[in-house]
Amino acid sequence: MEESNTDTLFSASEWLRYSRHVQLPQVGAKGQGDLKKSKVLIVGAGGLGCPVSLYLAAAGVGSITVVDGDIVDVTNLQRQILFNTQQIGKSKAESAKQVLTALNPEIKVTAIAEYLNDKNAPALVASADLIIDCTDNFSARYLINDVCQQQKKPWIFAAIHQFSGQCSLFSSETGCFRCLFPVAPSDMGDCNSAGVLGVLPGMLGTLQANEALKYLVGQPVPLRGNLLVVDALELSFKKIGLSKDPECVSCGSGTADTRDQLPEKVCPNEQIDSRAVTVEQFEILKKRDNYIVVDVRTDAEHQAFNLGGRHIPLTILAESLASIDSEKTLLCYCQSGLRSLQAAKLIESAGIKSQSLYGGLAAWLKQMPL
Ligand SMILES: [Zn+2]
Repeated sequence: MEESNTDTLFSASEWLRYSRHVQLPQVGAKGQGDLKKSKVLIVGAGGLGCPVSLYLAAAGVGSITVVDGDIVDVTNLQRQILFNTQQIGKSKAESAKQVLTALNPEIKVTAIAEYLNDKNAPALVASADLIIDCTDNFSARYLINDVCQQQKKPWIFAAIHQFSGQCSLFSSETGCFRCLFPVAPSDMGDCNSAGVLGVLPGMLGTLQANEALKYLVGQPVPLRGNLLVVDALELSFKKIGLSKDPECVSCGSGTADTRDQLPEKVCPNEQIDSRAVTVEQFEILKKRDNYIVVDVRTDAEHQAFNLGGRHIPLTILAESLASIDSEKTLLCYCQSGLRSLQAAKLIESAGIKSQSLYGGLAAWLKQMPL
């Protein structure tokens, strides 16, 4: 009898763990070995990053780096399935590392508790074979796109908005994200104000993980150069072919001076504006006679919970201003501070003073004793 070879790629426990993968002819021992040798950078541990990182860790991707400077918030738990109530207030990246390591102690998980920025991005991208964009804003995606273009690294994009989602794999042979979106659309609400069906990031994140695993084991990736558009209400899936823009500022001959500022945060709220007031200031001002508190959210939002004062939805604000005493200052609030800032600008343009609660009801709920 020959002596068994102890110098194997997999330990006995790994071989057992991954047996359902190895049985697939499209993966096999070779593919599972490729996964073990792979290094994946997951940018963002939110709604998309949670399913992506869970599936890649479970699948045995040997090295996973999770980058996220955010902390776990109670409003995340509706969709961010890595986290539980005990982790509220803790680093998302560190919490993700704990959960992923508990799921699969055979792999190496690195937590970077920072947002991706122009300083840390080049080295993080260079150390990975595949980058997965699990962020929620255009400036982060432009940064990932440009660094990946420079380093010829493939990356998998996904975006979600209310009930719709998009997913694609960009590589140096395909067009890039800037070919698809040369400038960021201005009508995209942020994750606080627009809302999202909790299961939608699960669907899109699982699609990203699906394309990632096929890419890493060398199988064809149908979303390379194609954009999948998902509508979770209709439950429709459409694949659209993407073409390269020869004038693209990232992968074509366009000049770089139109590029956006690089991001500091993954989920920015509104810019701080002179009309913005903090929760503390709001609490003082609302008691003054010359201030009127105005909820500019929808009827359904107002009925669900409100801070008192008047209710004038943003959609009918312009026509309602005639009935307002123009000697007063309108103290507007909404869910995240975006709509109320829009409202404050509109009110000012009608010659009435106005201020907006920075961070909205979300900030108020965090700071006020419940
Ligand atoms: Zn391009």
